Order: sequence, then C-alpha cells, then structure tokens
Amino acid sequence: MNLLFAHNLSRHYGGLAAVDDVSLAVAKGEVRAIIGPNGAGKTTLVGMISGRITPSTGSIFFKEEDITRKPSWARVQRGIVYTFQITSIYRNLTCYENVALAAQRLLAKSGERAISYAVAQALGRVGLVDEADRLAGVLPYGHQRLLELAMALALAPELLILDEPTQGLAPAEIAAFSELIRAVSRDTTILLIEHNLKVVLELADKITVMDRGIILAEGTPVEIEQHPAVQRAYLGQ
Ligand code: ATP
Repeated sequence: MNLLFAHNLSRHYGGLAAVDDVSLAVAKGEVRAIIGPNGAGKTTLVGMISGRITPSTGSIFFKEEDITRKPSWARVQRGIVYTFQITSIYRNLTCYENVALAAQRLLAKSGERAISYAVAQALGRVGLVDEADRLAGVLPYGHQRLLELAMALALAPELLILDEPTQGLAPAEIAAFSELIRAVSRDTTILLIEHNLKVVLELADKITVMDRGIILAEGTPVEIEQHPAVQRAYLGQ
C-alpha cells in the first residue's frame, strides 16, 4: 500500500516553478531519499507534503485520504511529522520539557503520565535519557539534533520527514545518526532529504532525484548510481 501519494504537485513563485508537476508514491515501511542540487525543489516538495507550503496545483493523499487542504497540525495528527532544517528547540527549556511540549500537542487529553512515558521513550530512542534535565541550549550541536529527532518521535510519526538531518554533524556523529535513522525506520516510513550521498546510499530503499523542480530519476541506490543523467547532473561525472 502507498502510505503517501503526491499527484501532479506544483508550486509556483511568480514565474518560477519551484516544483513542477511532480508525482511521488512512497510505500509503507520504505526509506525514501530525495536528492538533488541546491534549488532543485526538495524542501518545497516536502513542505507541501507536511502542509507548511500550499501547492499551486496537485493533490496529496495519505493512507488514501485526500489531505491537500488539511493544515499541517491535522497532518501531524494523522502521522506526518516534519523536522525542520533549522534546529527548532527551545534553548531555555530542559530536554525533557522540549520533548514534553511536543508530546503534549498529541497527548493533551491523555494526561501527564502518558506524556512522561512518551518523553522517556523518545529520549531513550535517541540516547538522551541522561541529559533529560539539562537545558537544551547548553547541549552540543549534535545532541541538539538528536533532541529534535526525539521531539519528532514523541509525535508518533508514521511518516517521518527529515530535512538534511546530518547537516553540520561531525563524521562520527553522522555514522551514529545513520544508525539511529536505520533503527527508527524499522517501524516508521521515512522521507529523507540528504546531501550526504554516502548516507543516502546506505539508508535508502529508493532514491528520487530532483533537478529544477522535476524528477530526473527514481530507483534503487544501485540504479541511481548507474543512471547516466544522474551521473552527469548530480554526481558530476
Ligand atoms: P536546498 O538543497 O538548497 O535546500 P531545495 O532543493 O530544497 O534546495 P527549494 O528550497 O525547494 O530547493 O527551492 C526551489 C526553488 O524555489 C529555488 O529556486 C528557490 O529559490 C525557490 N523558492 C523556494 N522558496 C521560495 C519562496 N518562498 N519564494 C520564492 N522562491 C522560492
């Protein structure tokens, strides 16, 4: 079953088509990477899927429901969770409080115990349990990215959209983050925008290559590595 189906999506800014008639089907359980040069339209595409950007034309279906006109919060409730490129934590709150704020949005009616359970689970999954009482602002950058992931996991995503999660991380942190994403992918479908091709080739089941608003190629990591248009346009060969 397709968890997500975007049909003929476009987003125009004046005369520019940031995304130009793109269709994308993501199966449940898949790790899908979206790659492409700067300005290819990747962030605009996932922005439309998460509800942050309104499409100029086209439709988006999640579990066969048309969500094109649903606000982003209604999409979060349905299981579409998007972590932003820019770290969106509250620096003056503790790690626990940051994750609790996220969980609260989903579990407001479930009470404090459900929230603290969800927070403990999420912090545990990213390895930050020992940092629970520390202020988010004093954490090293790599840990802040983990905290951001914990906030997303506390929202119980079915489709987790990660926008350049390894950006700014040191090589050892990138390896650890990749492992973590692999673990999360065991029970969560993932849509991953990522510039680090090594990470993409390791993690993705399928890769979509965008360029200038359109899909240039789509396939398995092996197919994409060998695709002549991809080698020319993206891999610079
Ligand atoms: P990057 O890898 O640099 O993040 P991207 O593939 O995510 O790039 P987008 O950010 O989606 O690309 O941008 C696609 C195109 O749309 C670019 O030419 C960009 O300048 C343009 N664009 C994006 N958002 C806006 C906006 N709000 N107003 C005008 N143009 C925009």
